[in-house]
Amino acid sequence: MNDIFCKIVKGELPAYVVYETEDIMAIMDAYPHTPGHLLIIPKKHYTTILDMDNDINTKIHEAAKFLIQKMEKLYPNLKSIKTVINYGEEQVVKHYHMHLLPLYEKDNIPAMSQEEFANLLKSE
Ligand SMILES: [Zn+2]
Repeated sequence: MNDIFCKIVKGELPAYVVYETEDIMAIMDAYPHTPGHLLIIPKKHYTTILDMDNDINTKIHEAAKFLIQKMEKLYPNLKSIKTVINYGEEQVVKHYHMHLLPLYEKDNIPAMSQEEFANLLKSE
C-alpha cells in the first residue's frame, strides 16, 4: 500500500515519532485538531478497524494507555483526552489509526507546536 502512513512507516515521509514498538508507531498529527494531537498506527497496513486482528488491537490500546498517562503528566492545562477511530467517509486516510485528542481548560490552550509536544513526550 502507498498511503501516507505506510510511507511514514517506511521512512519515505517525515513525522514526529513519539513512541514506537516492533508493531506500532505513535506520531504527532500533521494537521492537529487540537495542540498535541497524536495518532497511533499499526506498522502493518490495515485499512479499517474491521480489518484489525485482536492482537494488534490490544497493542494499540496498550500504547494508548501508555501515551494517555504521559500526556496527563506532561501536557500543560490538559482537561481531558478524546480517543477517536473514524470509519467510512470520516476516515480520511485508509490506513487504520487511532486519534488521541487532548482537550484543554478554556482560554488556557497551550501555544506549542507539534514539534514542541513531541519533544515534551520524548523528554522522559
Ligand atoms: Zn497503509
